[in-house]
Amino acid sequence: MSENVEKTECLIIGSGPAGYTAAIYAARADLKPILYTGMQQGGQLTTTTEVDNFPGYPEGANGPDMMEDFKKQAERFDSDIRFGMITEVDFSQRPFIVKADDGKTLEAESVILATGATAKWLGMESESKYNGYGVSACATCDGFFYKGKVVAVVGGGDTAAEEATYLAKLCNKVYLIHRRDELRASKAMQNKVFNTPNLEVIWNTVPKEIVGKEEGFSKAVTGAILENVKTGEERKIDVDGFFVAIGHKPNTEVFASQIETDELGYVKTVPGSTKTNVEGVFACGDVQDHVFRQAITAAGTGCMAAIEAERFLSS
Ligand code: FAD
Ligand code: NAP
Repeated sequence: MSENVEKTECLIIGSGPAGYTAAIYAARADLKPILYTGMQQGGQLTTTTEVDNFPGYPEGANGPDMMEDFKKQAERFDSDIRFGMITEVDFSQRPFIVKADDGKTLEAESVILATGATAKWLGMESESKYNGYGVSACATCDGFFYKGKVVAVVGGGDTAAEEATYLAKLCNKVYLIHRRDELRASKAMQNKVFNTPNLEVIWNTVPKEIVGKEEGFSKAVTGAILENVKTGEERKIDVDGFFVAIGHKPNTEVFASQIETDELGYVKTVPGSTKTNVEGVFACGDVQDHVFRQAITAAGTGCMAAIEAERFLSS
């Protein structure tokens, strides 16, 4: 066998909470997993500072530090963690053939997909500038920091409606900014929006710029400039937080053609399980979950995937 071809019982793709948790469990089950981290080593939580809702950290945790702890725990149990991308897969036969950008070809008896999802952004320069300093794509994660304050949510789908009504329970005032004159959200969610007194919908409107202040190394959002797409009229609103809720994209490019996905592109798993339509391929975390998208649920399904891979291999 060429030195660039390696055999493994369990290949894990992705190094967020799902991938590292799968590695901890797979390694403890003696599967000697190989994990490819992808370009974002540690996953989405490495882009945030405060993680206050992951159990076991009573004072909260810094996202990158927390993910370093996940990695160390996976390494403690003999996981082979490699920095690199998986670029090609062949799930048509077992062992599965998988290629990585370090030139390696892996023959894997089982594969755990843990490649996560990426929030869609509006693409404004000011949005990147204040990302993490008042701009967020996750109300469950960051809403708490805006207790008693004023925030804006952009989008008109179920996610935006859900984020806006969630934030309205914490904040004094929420603006929901939507580019059309009707919401895409389900009727039930629309009713919630329209029956929330401190939630104001701004119709036919798109944000042009997020404005803020800078003091030394610190930055904070103070408002947003909006444009009415019908009239071209501009106005400024004062807000402390700016939530973008225009959808997420699951990271499935490498294997989407080989595995069943749902209408939104998320990997389909058997309910209550991480099994995909390909026997021996399991999916966990945000890549198969458009509903919860939290670190703890990603870690939970990572655990499930490793246990299911171990049972599959020993059956
Ligand atoms: P991810 O964390 O998205 O990790 C995916 C991994 O896959 C990455 O390591 C990536 O490099 C890798 N990958 C992708 N493609 C490939 C490939 N081809 N080959 C190899 N690797 C690949 N959740 C909370 O519970 N609490 C919070 O406070 C919180 N705050 C957040 C703040 C921000 C700014 C964001 C963006 C998210 C936040 N979340 C929070 C959500 C949480 O981060 C996600 O739910 C969680 O990270 C999902 O974990 P995952 O392992 O499924 O995927
Ligand atoms: P979505 O349904 O695709 O809605 C995205 C929204 O963002 C749309 O209103 C869209 O406007 C707007 N948008 C997109 N790009 C934009 C841009 N560049 N600028 C301004 N606005 C932009 O996404 P989602 O809300 O995340 O929902 C995804 C799926 O998950 C849906 O099937 C949804 O039903 C489901 N979901 C369900 C629940 C629930 O049942 N509780 C909760 C969350 C999500 P337009 O309307 O003009 O296109």
